[in-house]
Amino acid sequence: MSDQIQRFMFDHTNVRGEIVTLSTAYHEVLSRHAYPGAVNELLGELLAAVALLTDTVKLDGTLSIEVRGQGVLSLLMAESNPGGELRAIARIAEDSHLPSEQASFRELVGEGQIVITLDPKDGNRYQGIVALDHETLSGCLEAYFSQSEQLPTRLWLAADGERAGGLLLQRLPEESQNQDVDAWERSVHLAETIKPEEILGLEQREVLYRLYHEETVRVFEPKALRFGCTCSRERMAGALLTLGADELRDILQEQGAIDTQCHFCHTKYHYTAVDIEAMLDDPEAPAPVIH
Ligand SMILES: [Zn+2]
Repeated sequence: MSDQIQRFMFDHTNVRGEIVTLSTAYHEVLSRHAYPGAVNELLGELLAAVALLTDTVKLDGTLSIEVRGQGVLSLLMAESNPGGELRAIARIAEDSHLPSEQASFRELVGEGQIVITLDPKDGNRYQGIVALDHETLSGCLEAYFSQSEQLPTRLWLAADGERAGGLLLQRLPEESQNQDVDAWERSVHLAETIKPEEILGLEQREVLYRLYHEETVRVFEPKALRFGCTCSRERMAGALLTLGADELRDILQEQGAIDTQCHFCHTKYHYTAVDIEAMLDDPEAPAPVIH
């Protein structure tokens, strides 16, 4: 099954939806880490969610969802960029026991919040925050939509370590275009019958047919998604500079050079003392490229 997101709309109503399935991109994320199974599943759900949200808000830019918890899982983050690329990472709190395979979202993250950041190519960065006070990731994200976007939105997310997927339904404000007052309740009610194994195992059109064969559904061109990382030598240098000159010189004193690695894709970056001094002299200059 290909990695793609598909937009759909119920004719003559103000109800729209998205369906996403990911396998290769999900595998690319997991293959770079050795997270416990329960974390892998949650990361898959978050990847599906970030793809759904990006398409829903029609953002041309970067969108990230960060789950900042106080439980075993201190951070879970997924990000999309305008090229249809996705990346994700999890951070397990130090000194914590690894979660059991059956650990729930609530057991993994504990108390905390979800931070959603929309960073358009043109325009201002927007950040929305919602408390982790629902039992599931989808429940927390639904609360975000009702608070920040004030659009009734429902999400169904699933992942099994191999495949990840999700379904989103949203009721748009245009009541005047809605000729079917029960459309929202009916489409949600039908979506409630979807099983995780159907989201993960069926072709997207088959899921839509199974749920909505009695409705008139307009299906748009699917959009391809893939794994991709936006790290670069320049960006990593920028992150290093935030440590400050003293700290950087201390590390150079100790280690002779600075080696860093991108947490998302594991690309390694090496900076010599000369590179670091040049960056400190002129932080705006592009980092030297090693050929
Ligand atoms: Zn990277």
